[in-house]
Parts: sequence; C-alpha cells; structure tokens
Amino acid sequence: MNKRAQMHLMELLAVEGVAGHEAAVSDLLRKKLVEVGCKEDWIFSDDAHLRLGNGFEVGNLIVQMPGTLNLPRICFSAHMDTVPLCKGAVPIIQGDRVVSRGDTGLGGDDRAGCAAIVSAIEEVLKKSIPHPPITLLFTIAEENGLHGSGAVQFSDLGHPVMGFNLDGQDPSEIIIGAMSAARWEAKIKGKSSHAGLEPQKGISAGLIAAKALSAVEEKGFFGQIKKGQKCGTSNVGKMCGGEASNQVMDQMVVSGECRSHDPVFVEKIIDVYRTCFLDAAKRVTNDTGECGDVEFVTQSDYRAFRLSESEPCVQRAIKAVEAVGLNPVPMAIDAGLDANNFNEKGFPVVTLGTGTYRFHTTDEYILLNEYFQICKILLHVIQSGGVL
Ligand SMILES: [Zn+2]
Repeated sequence: MNKRAQMHLMELLAVEGVAGHEAAVSDLLRKKLVEVGCKEDWIFSDDAHLRLGNGFEVGNLIVQMPGTLNLPRICFSAHMDTVPLCKGAVPIIQGDRVVSRGDTGLGGDDRAGCAAIVSAIEEVLKKSIPHPPITLLFTIAEENGLHGSGAVQFSDLGHPVMGFNLDGQDPSEIIIGAMSAARWEAKIKGKSSHAGLEPQKGISAGLIAAKALSAVEEKGFFGQIKKGQKCGTSNVGKMCGGEASNQVMDQMVVSGECRSHDPVFVEKIIDVYRTCFLDAAKRVTNDTGECGDVEFVTQSDYRAFRLSESEPCVQRAIKAVEAVGLNPVPMAIDAGLDANNFNEKGFPVVTLGTGTYRFHTTDEYILLNEYFQICKILLHVIQSGGVL
C-alpha cells in the first residue's frame, strides 16, 4: 500500500492548483479514482463555482460510492486548492520527508489529504474490503475563505451521517473544535482642504483612524485579547487613504479581522471596533463643527464549533488512531477549516492530520511515515463501522 500511496502523493503534489484554480487537480483526482476502481458514474463535479460566482474554475469533486455493507454512509473530505506560495512547487523526497525543491510551499496542505483518501479507497476496492456507503468530497477554494465546503449541497453528498476531514498535521491529533472568524471594514469619510492655507476647514480621515485604533487598544481589544475567561485576537491588516501631502485626507479605508473560539466574543470584539470608529468620527471636527463619518461593515468568515468526545465520529476516529498504535489527542485549533462549515450545518465532522507540517511556508514538509499512518487510519475508520 505504501508504494502506491507515495506515488499518489507525489503526483498530486506536482499539479498546480491555487484557490479558485483547481481544474488540473480535479482532473487528476478523477483519473486516479477511476484507476483505483471507482465507477465513472459515481463521480461528478457540482456547480458550487457557478453559484459562488467568483470566477472560480471548477466545482467540488464528489464521489458517491455504494456500500457492500448495509450501514450508514460516511464521508471523507480534503481540499484541492493550495495557497499561492505553492505555485510551481516541485516535490522531492529527502530522507524521511517530502519537501519542495525550490523556494515555494509544498502543497501538502492539502494534497496529502487528497492522496490519503485515494490510497485508502484503492485498498478497499482492490482488496474487496467490505465497506459502508462512502462519499468522497474534494473541495475547492478552502484557503481563501472555505468557499467550496460552504457551497456544497448535502443532497449531493448522499446525506452521510458523519465525516472525516483530512487537513491537519500529526495523525494522532483529532481536531474536534475550531474558531470563529470575522472581517470588518471601516470606510472613513473626512473633508479635504488645503493643508497650508486652511487646514482648519478640513476633517482628517487619517486622524479619525488613529483615534479609533488607539481607543481600541486602550480598551484592551487590539492584538491578543483576554477579558476574564474570554479570549480572542484582532488585527488591522490594511489602511489605504489620502491623495497628497498638501491636502487634508478626505477618505480612508481600514480593514482587519478578529477571531475567537467563542462566536459571541467575536461579535463583542467587532462591536468595540465599530463603536471606536463611530466615536472617533464624531470627535474629529473642523472649524464649523462638522464631523467625519464612518460606514462600518462586517462579514463572518466561519463559525466556531466544538464536538463532544462522545460524538460517534470522534469515537470512531479515536479507535482508528489507536488501531495504528498511536495515542489519540482530541484538540481544538486556532484557525478555520472546511469542518467549520460542515459542523455549522449540523453535519458532524472531525479533522485528522496528514503528516504535513509548517503549512503556508517555504519550509513545508510531509513526514512519509506519518502520511502512511493516516492512510491506514482511514482504512480503520472504514472498517470500524460495524463494530461501533
Ligand atoms: Zn488546509
């Protein structure tokens, strides 16, 4: 199994597919799935890319395998896209790991997940291992906002009762929780005036931004936030405004994000930013008493979830990890995953590690031994259906 699993991994890593441009990855996966024994009519692409309308290339790739056992349907998922840093990656094996040859990311996030699913299904079909009905879901555009998993329709998945998402690091880690994240944008309106002749007639959008952000910081809501039991983060990512140094700045757009494991606390952080910007706009006036204005908009990226350890998918993952001799560690992470969207819709999904480390950096690598372990863990997940 390892030799084939390694081949699937190296071939999938070599294909380019940044978020929104997964056509080549989808084509290769489809070819591989047929090669390993999936029937053509089990495989289809959905129309998520058309519904999203972002100019994305292809939809999610879905496989609905019938079962040989009369058991509830389960689902395996992994995302097909990578971050832009992985463009042009050339995977090579160096000792016990796979790394990228040049100065790029590797894309083990999440091609290692895609490859592990193909390898486990190959084993099941080639060895005629009895199995429940299985859905495979390869999502698009995870890295730029969990788009594919957000747009997938559950009827297209054949209504699985639980899911196993492949998108982590150490295969002994079982991700049962992830955080909420939201973005905000403040469009500040000031008033322009000659900076030398009559600055007092102007209203500086830059000054409004400065007052707003220092107020956020004074309240303890900038960067790392800790308020009693509640914690989270906030960040200002972008500030663009003004036209010339001799003109009072009449407009500025400031944008940022915030995160927490508590969705209510995310709302609270956003609320502090909103209040501080609106207050600052009122406090910056010109000589006639006119003040600035702020339009503050927010957008939720994903919502936190936390599965109980007694949840059947968590139990099944724990048993499968133990079956390969590892010590399972259920944990929550400080990021978002496709599993956020699944769990938000009431579809319980745990996320398992693929042996990939240092995601989104040029030092990204895959430990082959751990990648082989996750392939075996998936086989145990498939075979444990009748036992639990
Ligand atoms: Zn990922």
